[in-house]
Amino acid sequence: MRTNMTQQGILIVLSGPSGAGKGTICRELLRSNPNLQYSISATTRQPRAGEANGINYWFLSKHEFESMAEQNDLLEWAEVYGNYYGTPRRYVAEQLESGKDVVLEIDIQGAMRVKEKFPEGVYIYIIPPSSDELAERINKRGTDSPDSIKKRLGCASEELSCVYNYHYLVVNDKIASAVRNIEAIIAAEKCKVQRNHNLIENFFRHSCVRKEDL
Ligand code: 5GP
Repeated sequence: MRTNMTQQGILIVLSGPSGAGKGTICRELLRSNPNLQYSISATTRQPRAGEANGINYWFLSKHEFESMAEQNDLLEWAEVYGNYYGTPRRYVAEQLESGKDVVLEIDIQGAMRVKEKFPEGVYIYIIPPSSDELAERINKRGTDSPDSIKKRLGCASEELSCVYNYHYLVVNDKIASAVRNIEAIIAAEKCKVQRNHNLIENFFRHSCVRKEDL
């Protein structure tokens, strides 16, 4: 339970084209920021080699996914590259309430739905240094079929027009510097006056100078 002094956690939404390196950035962020929690998405996509249920995703059948959506258990969901992806609602709410920051790594459609519900969230778009680099990264990854690679590259250029709906742009040239930039964004967001009402109120309550006397 959140006490009066605990700041509500910050919701951080990361999007960007497939191959931008969001997954690696997320892993690094989580490794060095214990207050940050990763929201595991549900998906109907087949697991890739090395992916595990409950770690990378909750891998569901189409029927299971649809019943979660019907029961309003998803904060948002979208069809991406021919599969369903969605954010389980309860985990996000519980973590934020307990003061943990939560990172969602989701596509643009989902991010915009979340933004309607959480305008106070922090929306970060990640891009690779160039479109050539993007194509190279997706091909090199070797985890997607030729059809999926084509879809992913096609979507990348369409998506760019949506970048202006995000608050920050991070270029992932080097993972370490992209991670540092995101950590700097989170640190600055935490210092925003609007996020610190409890702290300010508490300061004045215990100060010898009362707010009313100023
Ligand atoms: P991948 O198949 O490469 O793991 O993910 C494909 C796309 O789905 C990525 O752009 C990823 O950000 C997005 N995605 C992953 N989880 C979610 C989710 O819960 N909701 C939405 N809307 N997109 C997601």
